[in-house]
Amino acid sequence: MKKFNVMRATIAAFGVALALCARGEPKFAPGIEVAGMDRSVAPGASFFAYANGAWLRSNEIPADLSSYGSWDVNEQLVERRLADLIQHPDAGAPQQGPAIRMTRDYYASFMDEARIESRGLRPLKPLLQAIDAIANRDDLARFLGGTLRADVDVLNSTNVYTDNLFGLWIAQDLDHPQRYVPFLLQGGLGMPDRSYYLDPAAAMVDIRAKYATHVAAMLGLVGMSDAAARAARIVDLEHQIAAVHSSREATEDVLKGNNHWLRSDFDSKAPGLNWRVFFAAAHLPQKQRDFVAWQPAAVSGIAALVASQPLATWKDYLIVHALQHRAAFLPRAIVAEHFAFYGTTLNGTPELRVRWKRAIDATNDALGDAVGKLYVARYFSAPAKASIEEMVERLRAAFERRIDNLDWMTPETKIGAKAKLAALKVGIGYPDHWRDYSGLKIVPDDAFGNAERAASFEYRYQLTKLGRGVDRAEWAMTPQMVDAVNLPAMNALNFPAGMLQPPFFNPDGDAAHNYGAIGTIIGHEISHSFDDQGSTFDATGRLRNWWAAKDLEHFRAAGSQLVQQYDAYHPFPDLAVKGQQTLSENIADLGGLLAAHDAYREEVRARPDAAVDGFSGEQRFYLSYAQNWREKYRDPALRKQVLTDGHAPEEYRASTVRNADGWYAAFDIQAGQPLYLAPAERVRVW
Ligand SMILES: [Zn+2]
Repeated sequence: MKKFNVMRATIAAFGVALALCARGEPKFAPGIEVAGMDRSVAPGASFFAYANGAWLRSNEIPADLSSYGSWDVNEQLVERRLADLIQHPDAGAPQQGPAIRMTRDYYASFMDEARIESRGLRPLKPLLQAIDAIANRDDLARFLGGTLRADVDVLNSTNVYTDNLFGLWIAQDLDHPQRYVPFLLQGGLGMPDRSYYLDPAAAMVDIRAKYATHVAAMLGLVGMSDAAARAARIVDLEHQIAAVHSSREATEDVLKGNNHWLRSDFDSKAPGLNWRVFFAAAHLPQKQRDFVAWQPAAVSGIAALVASQPLATWKDYLIVHALQHRAAFLPRAIVAEHFAFYGTTLNGTPELRVRWKRAIDATNDALGDAVGKLYVARYFSAPAKASIEEMVERLRAAFERRIDNLDWMTPETKIGAKAKLAALKVGIGYPDHWRDYSGLKIVPDDAFGNAERAASFEYRYQLTKLGRGVDRAEWAMTPQMVDAVNLPAMNALNFPAGMLQPPFFNPDGDAAHNYGAIGTIIGHEISHSFDDQGSTFDATGRLRNWWAAKDLEHFRAAGSQLVQQYDAYHPFPDLAVKGQQTLSENIADLGGLLAAHDAYREEVRARPDAAVDGFSGEQRFYLSYAQNWREKYRDPALRKQVLTDGHAPEEYRASTVRNADGWYAAFDIQAGQPLYLAPAERVRVW
């Protein structure tokens, strides 16, 4: 699902259904939240507003967030629990030795703002000196190689952005899923996507001007002369990098990305960068022969720029990127300037998050599994795990029945689909085994050094995978995340404990609510195995076409119908939802909704549909689905979401119901209403 890339939240302003109970934890309604609805809106006019209108009106986006919805409410809860667990781990924490001390020390070092202020820019000195010492293109290649980190992922968390010139992802070879291979991705931009440099819309021109001002301010903060002129040259260099970048849509296309390059191909296909020096500085094993160049034109284009652009501009560029990358661990003036652009200009967020919340984020980034182990020991019960396992199996069975009932699919393709579904490995709550952090040095008075060492430690860990057998039990998320994910090359799902709690799941709750809320999310993740990308992988995780030609044609036609449906949504007059960019997620939403509804019907088949709060079970199912997607945005954040994210904005995700026949019956939706689709126009993929 991957709704967000990082955890972010605040403890201010819980939703209207929440009241603080005695232990200081919010209390969630056990089913749908009737008080959050707006019954003056017709469900067929806007189901999103019908289900969420009162909540949207009565909740403000907290000043330190760029958007606010169900996920944030849950993240606020998790974040507060984590702060408590890290500071008071003895109350109910498992014995896990040094890892507890590491999380405490990491957190404490980040919280020690006085120490960070007093050290000033000193921690950055060695890096600035190394940049200053760059005297030729080989030195430049060596420095750039040293910035390579395992910080991107094209399939799982789908984080395709890095501010380093290139990003590395070490994952299963898509053609040989028994081995790991390094994937090299484009990077190097200071803004989130090539469109921020190239899009002619007035709003984007304005952001570009503010970015140049910000870059100059950063240079000024490290005492550089001539900051405005240098900033103009840096932004121009980034503009040229953006011009050779692949679009977000192309990057999402696995068939376009799966380009096997031998080590020697980099020299012949991407001249300009001394790759021997670059890879050696990046500590890639010398014997590593096979690579994947995900965006080959960008790799070639960026390498050419390394040769053609003035060394002095590259050095200024590296100073700004070194600073931006580490801003969170530097003094207040740097943090404030960084936030002014990345928080306020890019996302519209007025206020920087308070320090302890940023400390939780940083600790999660550095020591995710150590923190997660503490979290599940206190907050994820065996009965909750068992009841989610049961729901997953009901969803899997429902999906299998749906495959059996597809009238357009040939029996041979059905065999492939069912084999894939049966082999799907489902992880619930937390991984089977935990990461070991021994060897990582964390000290309580060195926030900057701790962050640097943690990033290198993670990178070295990723490099050790090369040449090893694939660990199919490894997770792509931490257990405390409020999220879930499908890992296509592992044919596996991760459902972190942070997601498996109210308001998404209530072990004692109403079945209609649980299937409409967490059930549709489980269904969404299962459906990712069969979306436009996931369906290109077979049961073993190999990228292989297991479809009969005629079936594939039908599947693609249904997909393009869905692309058109989403292309027609306009969050801004000058910007529509990108139907192709969001297709995988939209197929997953639709498949998940239909399969969860089937599973719900199966569970309650022997029971009469009793009304609760004046709503039938059928109605509560769809309302719970739409309440998952309650969300408010600041305009710049919504624009960024539309331009750079694989997910459509939540309002349109809630509108997926217009493709479900059951929704029409439950709310008596009539022709002529805005969301109404004639039966033939309702998209059915699975
Ligand atoms: Zn998804």
